[in-house]
Amino acid sequence: MSEETIFSKIIRQEIPTELLYQDDRVTAFRDITPRAPTHILIVPNILIPTINDVETEHEVTLGRMVVVASKLAAQEGISEDGYRLIFNCNQHGGQEVFHIHMHLLGGKPLGPMLA
Ligand code: IMP
Repeated sequence: MSEETIFSKIIRQEIPTELLYQDDRVTAFRDITPRAPTHILIVPNILIPTINDVETEHEVTLGRMVVVASKLAAQEGISEDGYRLIFNCNQHGGQEVFHIHMHLLGGKPLGPMLA
């Protein structure tokens, strides 16, 4: 059994957070330490600790995360200029919170990904 993270509390709205989006599968909220003018986290409502734990049964949820990211990018007005979607996995990927999340980053030129 995996340990819950702060994201489970956010999903259940047990701590004050401005939710940008929530449905039966995913939740989106602003990153507490934004690395760009738009920095949103899109997370599954169920706890999947890392991308290594993703199974076929999660396909719809993972797809929903991308659809929500695209809609939120439009809402933020960054669709045309562009943005970046990132999953970090484990130590070498720089993952800090072990509840998978997609970073939606934009609102400024982000430069080459592997700088
Ligand atoms: P990771 O490095 O991909 O695991 O990213 C974790 C992200 O979660 C970081 O960008 C943190 O700033 C963000 N974060 C951690 N705690 C909170 C919170 O309580 N609210 C919103 N974002 C958070």
